[in-house]
Amino acid sequence: MTTLLTTSDVANIVALQGPRKVFTDLLDYVLADFLRWQEFDKCARVASHSATGVIELMPTADNELYSFKFVNGHPDNPQAGLSTVMAFGALAHVSTGEPLLISELTLTTALRTAVTSALAARALARPDSRSMALIGNGAQAEFQALAFHYVLGIDTLHVYDVDPDATRKLESNLATVAPSLRIVRFDSTAQAVKGVDIITTVTADKAYATILTADMVEPGMHINALGGDCPGKTELHADVLRMGPVFVEYEPQTRIEGDLQQMPADFAVTELWRVLTGQNGGRPSPDAVTIFDSVGFALEDFSALRWLRDSAARHGIGAQIEVAPQLQDPKNLFNVVRTARNGQSALVQG
Ligand code: NAD
Repeated sequence: MTTLLTTSDVANIVALQGPRKVFTDLLDYVLADFLRWQEFDKCARVASHSATGVIELMPTADNELYSFKFVNGHPDNPQAGLSTVMAFGALAHVSTGEPLLISELTLTTALRTAVTSALAARALARPDSRSMALIGNGAQAEFQALAFHYVLGIDTLHVYDVDPDATRKLESNLATVAPSLRIVRFDSTAQAVKGVDIITTVTADKAYATILTADMVEPGMHINALGGDCPGKTELHADVLRMGPVFVEYEPQTRIEGDLQQMPADFAVTELWRVLTGQNGGRPSPDAVTIFDSVGFALEDFSALRWLRDSAARHGIGAQIEVAPQLQDPKNLFNVVRTARNGQSALVQG
C-alpha cells in the first residue's frame, strides 16, 4: 500500500513538531543529500511553457529511492484565487518501482526552499548576519523569514512588496509565530535593502524583471535570489551577478532557468554541494558579495519526501491507499476487473 499525505496532513506534521524543529530537521535531510551529491541521477527539470506560466517535472534517484515532483509557476494565479506555485510528488522503491508515498508538495516546497536558502546562506553569508531584506511577501515569504530566523539567527526583517496587502499578511502571520522577529516595512526595494546583511528576492513575474540593481548592493551582502527560476523570468540585473562569486544548485538547470540565463555560457559559477562538502571555498572575504542563484532542484524534493515519509510514520499521519494493485497473483491483473461490483464482472454484464 502507498501512504497518501494531503496538505492538511503536512500542516499537522508541522504543527505537531513546531516550526523551529521542522526547519532544523528538514535542513539536516537536505544537507545529508547534498553531501552525497555524486550518488544521485541528475537532470534539468522537464518544462512545459505556456503564455501564462510553466508546468515542470523534477525527477531524481539514488540506489534505493526514486522521486519526482510536479510543480507549476503561474504568477497571475493569485488573481484567479489560485497559488502561483502548486506541487505534488511521489517517492518509490528503486528495486521494485513500488510507490511508497504520494504527497502534496505545495506547502512542502515552501519548507524545502526556505531550508535550502538557509543552508546556502549559512555557508555563504557573513556569520554575524542578523538582518535580512525580504523582497516579495507572497506565499514563500513567511517560510523564508522563519528559516533564516531559526537557522541563522536573523532578528531584523526589512520587507517590501508591490502589493501592500501581501506585506500586511506577512507581518500579521509572523507576529503570531515569531514575535521576537523585528519587522520594518519599506516603500521600495532600494530602501528595504539599505544596510542589511542578506537580501532575499522572492517575487513572481513572468518577465525579465530587475528587482535588484548593482547600485543597491553593498560590500559584504549575501544575495539569496529565488524568483528568477524560469526562462524569461529574472530578478537580478546582470551587473549584480558580476559583483561576486555566484553559487547554484545544479549548473545545467540554472543556466537555463536562473538569473544566470542572462550571462555568457562560460560565466563561472560554483555548485553549492562543492562548498558544503568543503571541496570549494564559499565567501572569499567579509567584504565580498556572495550570490545564491536558486531555482529549486529535484534533490531538495527528494530530501523533503524522505523527511515526510519518516515524519508521517512517526506521528501515524496519512491514509493507506491502493495506488498499485494488491494482487494475490501478480499476473492476474484481470481479476481486479472480474471481481469488481460484488463479484459480478462489469465486462460480462456489458
Ligand atoms: P506569490 O505569487 O505568492 O508571491 C510573489 C509576490 O511577489 C507577490 O506578493 C507579488 O506582489 C510580489 N512581487 C511581484 N513583483 C514584485 C516587485 N517588482 N517588487 C516587489 N514584489 C513583487 O509567489 P510565491 O509562491 O511566493 O513565489 C515567489 C517566487 O519564488 C516565484 O517566482 C516562484 O517561482 C519562486 N520560487 C522559487 C523556488 C526556488 O526553489 N528557487 C521555490 C518556490 C518558488
